Amino acid sequence: MSLIEGLIIKTQNYQENSKIVWILTAFDYTSYLMRGSANPKSHNYAYSNELTKIRFQTSDRLQKGFPILTSGEVVQNFSATKTNIDKMRMVIVILDMINQLANHIDDKQTLFSFCNQILDLINNSFHPLYLQIFRLKLLYLLGVGPIFSKCVNCGTSIKQGTFDLNNGGMVCVHCQNQTLTFFDPDVIEVIKFLYLTKLVFLSPPVLNQIPNYLLEISQFLDHYYEHFLGFNSRAEAILKKL
Ligand SMILES: [Zn+2]
Repeated sequence: MSLIEGLIIKTQNYQENSKIVWILTAFDYTSYLMRGSANPKSHNYAYSNELTKIRFQTSDRLQKGFPILTSGEVVQNFSATKTNIDKMRMVIVILDMINQLANHIDDKQTLFSFCNQILDLINNSFHPLYLQIFRLKLLYLLGVGPIFSKCVNCGTSIKQGTFDLNNGGMVCVHCQNQTLTFFDPDVIEVIKFLYLTKLVFLSPPVLNQIPNYLLEISQFLDHYYEHFLGFNSRAEAILKKL
């Protein structure tokens, strides 16, 4: 059986010295049993921790209902993230979101590649907007991406208009009187730019050139996730209180 690549998103100690690990791959998001991996002296301890990219093999045999992860190796351990509190706070929220939302996304291949990209980006550089960019772009994979190219009410293609938050998109001049929850157009311009620009082009120097609407973008996304998905990140709520 060949090795597959995966990101360890979540782990939980299990029984005496084992762990259950939740791994995102290009094919699925599944939990595996790693026997003995909670013991630091054990051979598989090194590739059993959260926020680690590994190559691994599994056995088809189930134990206590879990497939068993039989062998593996570390591909990337994101040490620059694990040793930086700002990066880590951001990544904790990202991992929590992946854990809660991955199985609502059918296109695991794109999700896996997107998660690898954002985690590498945060590991290699840093910008406070990266968490919001992750949340914003994930909306596309969740099937509720904001619509900027046409009026969400009548379907007319538009270049400029007002953004109606509760309808998830732009509204043309003719439909504006029917909507209520408008959002600041300057902030929407920045959100549109971040949503439509590929992640590789959103380097810290580029992000430093755009107006600083970090708080507004965060509020936009809080509202968006709650309205369309009924979702609040538990990790984010905890971190906000700290
Ligand atoms: Zn319209």
